[in-house]
Amino acid sequence: MIPVFYRPEMVAPATGYSPSAAKPAQVIADWRADFDIAPDVEFVEFDPATRAEIARAHDPAYVDGILACRIPNGFGDCDPRIAASLPYTSGSLLAAARHVTTDPADWHARERIACSPSSGFHHAHHAESGGYCTFNGLMVAALALKAEGLADRVLIVDCDEHYGNGTQDIIATLGVDWIAHVTHGGRLPGSYHDKPGMLGMIEWQVPEFGADRCRGVVLYQAGADCHVDDPLGGFLTTADMRERDRLVFRLAVQHRAPLVWNLAGGYQRDRKGRIEPVLKLHRQTMAECIAAGVG
Ligand SMILES: [Zn+2]
Repeated sequence: MIPVFYRPEMVAPATGYSPSAAKPAQVIADWRADFDIAPDVEFVEFDPATRAEIARAHDPAYVDGILACRIPNGFGDCDPRIAASLPYTSGSLLAAARHVTTDPADWHARERIACSPSSGFHHAHHAESGGYCTFNGLMVAALALKAEGLADRVLIVDCDEHYGNGTQDIIATLGVDWIAHVTHGGRLPGSYHDKPGMLGMIEWQVPEFGADRCRGVVLYQAGADCHVDDPLGGFLTTADMRERDRLVFRLAVQHRAPLVWNLAGGYQRDRKGRIEPVLKLHRQTMAECIAAGVG
């Protein structure tokens, strides 16, 4: 079974351009209705991230201002429903990351891969929101695992279309040297904004975080907005994205690298304005995750 760390409290209304705040519930409903996926996923309860856990990654004054709805969130407003959801979106990724890194001696591949149906992390800076991101759950999880002795090194494979500038800002602000942050986001020198470069980067990095090399964990943003049809994308076809997901999961299992994946961005809509094209891509990622575990 693939554990999915979902609670309805993760969800907030999607009021602007981005559907991400409401996406967890839609994704979960989609998976529950899918005959090929539903039997192989189990939904797991978790606690929300605490203020102290979030403040490892962010300026405490920023954390308090966001939670008290005094500072605009990543959607540019102070909607208390967004603020209420934030400890749960970061909490989902954190709980999933703890799950895959606890008792690594009891290795069973399928229990070392977990899903957090979350988004809205990688543009969140140390003391600033942006780009639909408010708290950086990737960094909240990484810093908690390090503090709790559950991992020595963390690989963030950010396959969202866009550059994880918030992640990079927090790494630089805190002077962290045990996180590898690889991304195909953006078109900056050093990013991997082409298919061979991206696949090569995955092939090179993931094995480094396997059980034979270190006590590591992989946080994989399986973004859907790098699809060629995405209005904010993109350079990968549906088949390319399947190849990407398959490679990440295959390498994690083969090298026994604990891995958590999440949803990240995705902005396609069908003619009726529904996010079905995005759901289809996330469904494909889960299908590949299940296939890797079974194999
Ligand atoms: Zn994006």
